[in-house]
Amino acid sequence: SLELTDLLKVYGDKTVLRSIDLDVRPGEFVSLLGPSGCGKSTALKIIGGFERATSGTVHIGGVDMTRTPAKDRGTGIVFQQYSLFPHITAAQNIEFGLKVRRIGKAERAARVEELLAMVGLEEHGGKYPHQLSGGQQQRVALARALAVAPRILLLDEPLSALDAKVRERLREEIVRIHRDRGTTTIMVTHDQEEALAMADRVAVMHEGEIVQFDTPHEIYANPEPDFVAGFIGVMN
Ligand code: ATP
Ligand code: MG
Repeated sequence: SLELTDLLKVYGDKTVLRSIDLDVRPGEFVSLLGPSGCGKSTALKIIGGFERATSGTVHIGGVDMTRTPAKDRGTGIVFQQYSLFPHITAAQNIEFGLKVRRIGKAERAARVEELLAMVGLEEHGGKYPHQLSGGQQQRVALARALAVAPRILLLDEPLSALDAKVRERLREEIVRIHRDRGTTTIMVTHDQEEALAMADRVAVMHEGEIVQFDTPHEIYANPEPDFVAGFIGVMN
């Protein structure tokens, strides 16, 4: 489970997150949905330990991890600009986290093969990031995040910047991986259709606050605050 309590994030004189409370159940797929600049990436980075909250706490599996370094949180993250290491191959990118955790060479090789197959890139392990398409790089980033068998998978706009067909495929892969592994998943998106179709529950964000947190059905049928109605309406 994941629990965010009264998170506040201030950059200079700008409040980016204000009193964020969020309770995610084990195995749940939650989407953070909201327009550009509302604080989605900041929230995800704080969960993953790549940013420190100004105040408030992050609990994972009941343990206070507010000050725990990213590598010790049991989370895997795909950043918005998927950020592969450019100077090593796709396979080596996936292997990286396994090396850091001192997993033996033979086991690493087997896991990398398995992960490449999982994201449909068996043929591409030896290529460098610049030799891969955007969608392929996005899938390498996903495999890299999954390599360490995270308890929580954090995805920041994993489907943006992909054409419709590739997007549909990767979307199915993410849903299948979530179903098969039961990994708690937090996916950031500004695409309401995507959020409502993929998530168990959707947290709608507006200017640093969560203004509604409910099932896709409830949000669609009963958009509560005015903002939610506007956001859903405009995008339909
Ligand atoms: P997008 O959909 O465009 O990715 P987002 O919801 O992910 O947007 P964030 O990246 O979380 O938004 O940014 C929220 C706000 O915080 C923005 O106004 C942004 O300019 C500001 N911000 C983010 N990172 C920093 C930083 N390192 N220093 C100062 N301001 C920042
Ligand atoms: Mg963002």
